[in-house]
Amino acid sequence: MNLSQFPRISLAHLPTPLEAMPRLSKLLGGPKLYVKRDDCTGLASGGNKTRKLEFLMADALAQGADTVITQGAVQSNHVRQTLAAAARLELDCKILLETRVPDAPDTYNTSGNVLLDGLFGADIDYRPSGTDMDAAMEELADTLRDSGRKPYVIPGGGSNRVGALGYVDCANELTAQIADRGLPVTKIVHGTGSTGTQAGLVAGLVALNSSIDVIGVSVRADEKTQIAKVHALATETAKYIGVEDGVAESRVQVRDQYVGDGYGIPTEGMLEAVQLCAQYEGILLDPVYAGKGMAGLIGMIRNGELTEEDAVVFLHTGGSVALFAYDWFFNPKNKKLKADE
Ligand SMILES: *Cc1c(COP(=O)(O)O)cnc(C)c1O
Repeated sequence: MNLSQFPRISLAHLPTPLEAMPRLSKLLGGPKLYVKRDDCTGLASGGNKTRKLEFLMADALAQGADTVITQGAVQSNHVRQTLAAAARLELDCKILLETRVPDAPDTYNTSGNVLLDGLFGADIDYRPSGTDMDAAMEELADTLRDSGRKPYVIPGGGSNRVGALGYVDCANELTAQIADRGLPVTKIVHGTGSTGTQAGLVAGLVALNSSIDVIGVSVRADEKTQIAKVHALATETAKYIGVEDGVAESRVQVRDQYVGDGYGIPTEGMLEAVQLCAQYEGILLDPVYAGKGMAGLIGMIRNGELTEEDAVVFLHTGGSVALFAYDWFFNPKNKKLKADE
């Protein structure tokens, strides 16, 4: 799939590595596990939003914007990466943060991504949970236009058809790595939130005629809602890149039993996933997305859905700086896991 018709600027360190996870594979039994290291995209400690921003920021510049506006949860990785990209590109950046995690301890509101946002000189406004954040961004954009500015609004998580191009490109990159190394990969698993990652991957794989399945582990919405949202954006993205036949809804798979009590609220499964990846592979996950995504992968191995017939790529979408904002959760619970040998 050739994306050269779309404006793009280089922000990410690409290609990201595709690595085996031999110790975790052995411990869990079942499929051979690999990890696609999109936590290593490089910008401001990396993550999946950087791929999307290569296309979104290029679009903003092409439209003559002098300011970008975006929004997220307090510990948004998307906001951190957008601020860093804006700094590099000499764009103003206005941020709206939704206080989405109830009763969060102090470090949640000051450490991790929030601390880094401050280093980027972020101009942040807070909104209460449940605010219509898209409407709030449009209102802010109107105010800026009235004062002669040229704002460009980036949706939460950078998830629209422009941002999703970043994951169409990742589908290209990953399938090439898989083919080069002759790996028998059957499935890709990752945490899904604002949907651009899964939608872009699915659209890209359909465009490539690849039969690899993508399973999104929801971090917020129920399965039906998330499938509908991912499918809508995957369809729109496929059309945008010229895939005439669209995307069958059956290409969009979501599991919602790993959310726990809600977005950003820790679960025991996430804790186990974070500890296992750290102690068996030396890889840091995050508490909100990759931790729950990996909890989903572990769950699907244990419930027999993923077997030794499969070879699975876990797409590591980044976010480990948020670990510091959850010290209150990890600190008393951290322990050395029992060796498998
Ligand atoms: C945003 C994010 C995701 C989810 O990606 P979407 O495209 O929003 O579905 C996963 N992991 C991390 C670390 C993220 O920051």
